[in-house]
Amino acid sequence: MKFEAIKKETVILNPQKDMAERRIPSEIRIDPLTGRTARICHFMKLQWEKPDFNALVSGTEAWCPFCADKVQVVTPCFPKDLIPEGRLQKDDMLIFPNIAPYDSIGAVATFGARHYIPMTEFTPALMASAFGFALDFFRRIESTGHPESVYHIINWNYMPPAGSSLIHPHLQVFSTSTAPNLMRQELEASRHYLDSHGSCFWEDLVAAEIKTGERYLGKIGRTHWMTTFAPMGVAGDVLAVLEGARSTLDLNAQDLQDIAAGLAKVIAEYDKMGIYSFNMNFFTGTRTDEHFRFHLLFSPRTFFNQKLGTPDVGALRNLFNETLCMAYPEEINDMLKQGF
Ligand SMILES: [Zn+2]
Repeated sequence: MKFEAIKKETVILNPQKDMAERRIPSEIRIDPLTGRTARICHFMKLQWEKPDFNALVSGTEAWCPFCADKVQVVTPCFPKDLIPEGRLQKDDMLIFPNIAPYDSIGAVATFGARHYIPMTEFTPALMASAFGFALDFFRRIESTGHPESVYHIINWNYMPPAGSSLIHPHLQVFSTSTAPNLMRQELEASRHYLDSHGSCFWEDLVAAEIKTGERYLGKIGRTHWMTTFAPMGVAGDVLAVLEGARSTLDLNAQDLQDIAAGLAKVIAEYDKMGIYSFNMNFFTGTRTDEHFRFHLLFSPRTFFNQKLGTPDVGALRNLFNETLCMAYPEEINDMLKQGF
């Protein structure tokens, strides 16, 4: 396992200090699987101001399509050959088709009737229940023999900085035969790794991270938690790799509880930094992809300028897919480790 970094240094002259020379380090890290590069730079204290949540949330219930009085009226239903009852319901959670689909089998799963759930109030039980509900949906799709029942993916955009257009918490849930870019690159690179090394990249990664300990957070059940060497997020990413699981459909009820328990810990630690928004994606292979291990990636989201609403994705990330992380992942690991 190679953790490669290219170290750089910038020299600037400071006019406030008689043109004294200042040297600023940065680092370009290479993802050990895909070769994707990530820049560690713009070093700053990972601490943000939280907004006034009352002002942010106030009034949004009035037009929220996922609130209890509207969700059964305005959200669409599945066709009879897919889900005969139209929408899936579990307690007060609902799954219905995404009205803005980006694939054939695209759905939305609400976390229930509650319009606003503060980030730290996602209990392990609530998250495990929502993920389990999404898995019920995936199993239903699988049972129909639908050709899109290949990769079963949960994406979570929590709060507007992460791309959510609604406050009401929900998951994007979809089954697809077309793997999204980074997942496809990982699948291909993992196959190549198995062919050339004779071992599974993901097992080797977990072993390497346990050995150095610099980025490893801990093990819950068969989930291994760690900060990533070449993160996508400006405040690092947390990766959870499921030992022995290749696909979303391999996850059992205990795995979902373990995933939820780990996420709750990660959320609690990022909350202390003032983070209140994140993305979380499932990365899955098929059940026969021996080269792959199911994993999820949690990535905190924030602003580059909160007052102006400047997102943490600019030209570098949007058009080059080159990422910036504002602290060393090993230092972020030290902060997160307090919760593990
Ligand atoms: Zn709502």
